Amino acid sequence: MAKGDFTRSFAEWMRGRNGADDVARLSTWVALVFFLIGLLAANTVCEVIALALLVYSQWRMMSKNIAKRARENEAFMSALGPVRPWVVSPRAAWTESRSFKHLACPSCGQKVRVPRGKGTVRITCPKCHQKFDAKA
Ligand SMILES: [Zn+2]
Repeated sequence: MAKGDFTRSFAEWMRGRNGADDVARLSTWVALVFFLIGLLAANTVCEVIALALLVYSQWRMMSKNIAKRARENEAFMSALGPVRPWVVSPRAAWTESRSFKHLACPSCGQKVRVPRGKGTVRITCPKCHQKFDAKA
């Protein structure tokens, strides 16, 4: 069997399945962390948690109830709040945090993004047009 055949039949088999969503990816990473801790600390409980998370993430990827998995994924991701970008793409979140500062408008609370390293800047809130100074 050629390599292309395997890739094609795997793609065929994965059709209509959920695949690796954010929750599945996150639980795979957390499983890996627990597995390493379990290995280093010779802790069986950590290894069992790692195995359970791994089984759960595999089950998510294989699941054919895509609509339900998508709802769960979205509910979980929105529950993360400001941590979300760090879970979705840690590298992009890191780059973003190095080049921008996120501030809240003092009068309406609207979040604004200002470039870092520009000293004190005058910001006009895009929502209520209130002007305020901030160190960025
Ligand atoms: Zn405002």
